[in-house]
Amino acid sequence: MIEFQKVSKIYPPESAAVRDISFKITQGEFVSLIGKSGAGKSTLLELFLREEFPTEGRVLFQEQDVHQIPDRHLPEFRRKVGAVFQDYKLLPQKTAYENVAYVMEVMGASEEDIVRDVSEVLEIVGLIDRAHHYPAQLSGGEKQRVAIARSLIHRPDVIIADEPTGNLDPYHTKDIIGLLVKINELGTTIILATHNKEVINRLGKRVLTLDAGRLVRDEERGKFMI
Ligand code: ADP
Repeated sequence: MIEFQKVSKIYPPESAAVRDISFKITQGEFVSLIGKSGAGKSTLLELFLREEFPTEGRVLFQEQDVHQIPDRHLPEFRRKVGAVFQDYKLLPQKTAYENVAYVMEVMGASEEDIVRDVSEVLEIVGLIDRAHHYPAQLSGGEKQRVAIARSLIHRPDVIIADEPTGNLDPYHTKDIIGLLVKINELGTTIILATHNKEVINRLGKRVLTLDAGRLVRDEERGKFMI
């Protein structure tokens, strides 16, 4: 489903953020990406999200070169790939419901579809009773649930989560990882970049380890070892 083929990203003049990275991820996997700060995790995710272009190599998603997708097919690519970040990226003047609905509004969805789909994703993330709260009235864990609900709205094939628990206490961290596991069990591929040792060790799933831009380990049931 996702394949990196000898991918390198060199920032001028010669800082290699990732070097000669190759791996494959199949549909339905839950893969964690670990490594020290500066190891290249965000760059790797940005390459997949097409926010950065590789200096060398290719990134494939569903057999298509991500960096060769013509502009007219980009919206379709964006719908298939959801993203969640450490800082939630919610609109402060909009409620939880409105933050999720907004994504559909900009695409011109009907009110009927919006009400149905937003309610469905808020239900999945367990936030129906907080739907009309503003971000400032929500805990960090709840804010991240809203961001996850928003990432689910187009029923993506994969969700990229870049340090989604970076601002959360252990209780909410467990909660959010549990939610990602549940979403994965419903069939969505998950790629999780994290610093959190307990999260990785408890998950017991595949782990890719980056060190200084290189992929140094790829383990089926990885332990945190950096
Ligand atoms: P991580 O997410 O693992 O902390 P990053 O992917 O952010 O690592 O960074 C990997 C390396 O690439 C670091 O040395 C960083 O300084 C460098 N880097 C990342 N983005 C840029 C950029 N836009 N310009 C120059 N160097 C960058």
